[in-house]
Amino acid sequence: MDKKSLKYDRQREEMVHRQIESRGITDPNVLLAMRTVQRHLFVSEALMDQAYGDHPLPIGEQQTISQPYIVAEMTQALVLNKDDRVLEIGTGSGYQAAILAEIAFRVYTVERLYPIFVKARKLFDELRYYNVVTKYSDGTSGWSDESPFDAIMVTAGSPEIPQVLVNQLAIGGRMIIPVGDQYTQELVKIFKDEQGIHKSNLGGCRFVKLVGEYGWREL
Ligand code: SAH
Repeated sequence: MDKKSLKYDRQREEMVHRQIESRGITDPNVLLAMRTVQRHLFVSEALMDQAYGDHPLPIGEQQTISQPYIVAEMTQALVLNKDDRVLEIGTGSGYQAAILAEIAFRVYTVERLYPIFVKARKLFDELRYYNVVTKYSDGTSGWSDESPFDAIMVTAGSPEIPQVLVNQLAIGGRMIIPVGDQYTQELVKIFKDEQGIHKSNLGGCRFVKLVGEYGWREL
């Protein structure tokens, strides 16, 4: 292992300690995944030294990789089991999908911007995330062929909860989605059972726009 990689290992350990554990994330699978996935590999070389900072970073095409804490918070909220099939809308850098792939059985991730999709696909292959399945399309209509999903995570802000996604959630399934206007959103958790859906609010957040048929109409 080279010097640089050791440096990032230390930064990652510190990130988990200061930003994740000390703010109340307790799910051992989430903590292990955050310790394992090499976040610096999901940003451009020029930004690698900032990869473990307490903030989002640009990934090109006006998109961002989320702040480490929000990744951990959203992942924990899904209460994942190791045999779960998870749908992610908004592949972006691929970092969140990699975290999910460390914990769940299989991750289906959808991205609408081609250059971002291609970059993430290549990275999943290089890092041997063979349980990540990718698709280049508008994720607001989900992935009906592979539904129902045990968990769905939307990593872009939506004006409302797309009913199609709720329909693709299994009974017992959990979904997490930022809902609000383009400047600020609330993180909404949805639990689906035989009676219907139950919503709870996890607090404020700020994501880039979910653009598509059942999201925002344009960037
Ligand atoms: N989960 C990502 C965060 C990505 S930012 C990560 O870990 O890095 C949000 C991403 O959602 C952007 O790449 C954006 O292009 C994508 N996106 C926005 N609307 C979308 C849609 N309707 N379908 C699929 N992807 C979408």
